[in-house]
Amino acid sequence: MSFDYKFQKLEPAKSFKAVPKDEMYVPGHRTCAGCGPALNYRLVAKAAGPNTILIGPTGCMYVANASYLCTPYAVSWTHCQITNGGAVASGIEAAFKVFARKGKYTGVFPSIIVMAGDGGTIDIGLQAMSAMLYRNHKALFVCYDNESYANTGVQTSPCTPYGANTTFTPPGKAIPEGKVLFPKYVPEMVIGGHPALKYVATTTVAHPLDLTNKVRKALSYEGPTFLDMLCPCPKGWKFDEKLTREMAKLAVETGMWSLFEWEDGVYKYTNVPKTYKPISEYMKNQGRFAHLKAEHIAKMQAFVDGRIAKVKANLAIPVATPK
Ligand code: SF4
Ligand code: MG
Repeated sequence: MSFDYKFQKLEPAKSFKAVPKDEMYVPGHRTCAGCGPALNYRLVAKAAGPNTILIGPTGCMYVANASYLCTPYAVSWTHCQITNGGAVASGIEAAFKVFARKGKYTGVFPSIIVMAGDGGTIDIGLQAMSAMLYRNHKALFVCYDNESYANTGVQTSPCTPYGANTTFTPPGKAIPEGKVLFPKYVPEMVIGGHPALKYVATTTVAHPLDLTNKVRKALSYEGPTFLDMLCPCPKGWKFDEKLTREMAKLAVETGMWSLFEWEDGVYKYTNVPKTYKPISEYMKNQGRFAHLKAEHIAKMQAFVDGRIAKVKANLAIPVATPK
């Protein structure tokens, strides 16, 4: 039986000044100074607006934001386990559809957003995230990627870069580079396996207008969407908290991170540098890479060169994928 749900259409903003001033993530939280994920939360919630339900799997943005019955969320927010952000979003979405069909809910369908860390997305939370995208729920899954399990003491995650010093990958005589594995590539994993998926995009906290419009576009689709957002973490990455935005910008300028949208099987890139800076420019201000020798940095550069080659290939040829 078909049913007309009242979906909201969020218009793109021409400039960041045009974004409503209302804050949905307000002061009073307990995150570190310069916290990239906190800035990300603020920008995503602002872009989504008041008719929003946020789902927060365990992570820094739960632990540091929801202690002692005090939270900074000015919209509905619920905690869930780190494993099941996608499952909780699926249940909320299905419940709204049932209530609407039965005439018990007559309002505009809310924006349902999972705000998960990299562990809650691509590692511990992988199965529920994938199921939400697979089953065609109308919900947005956001990965606020700070490249570690920061909340529990900065342990390595599958998004932690090669060579990073974390509490589970300390450099020493036996393993001088610290982490020896290269990271999973989250957006490609997501795009590759979910035929119902409508829209995937990447952004960073240093690109607020880009972030805002990608959130609004994702929420305007009548189906599952996914955003991967780079959110530097001063504590885990060991850099001066003044440099959060600078770190995210350098990630794009060196090719460590790319800004793109994937829509109808076609990649659209923005902010592609004419000449990429060497990866050492990105790494030199981060204490997590301070132990690396020239040969390790060269290995990292070769990995990033591979990603840059993929960007160039995608720019040239639209990649057909299932719809
Ligand atoms: Fe933010 Fe990192 Fe501090 Fe967690 S550890 S609150 S992610 S800066
Ligand atoms: Mg994390």
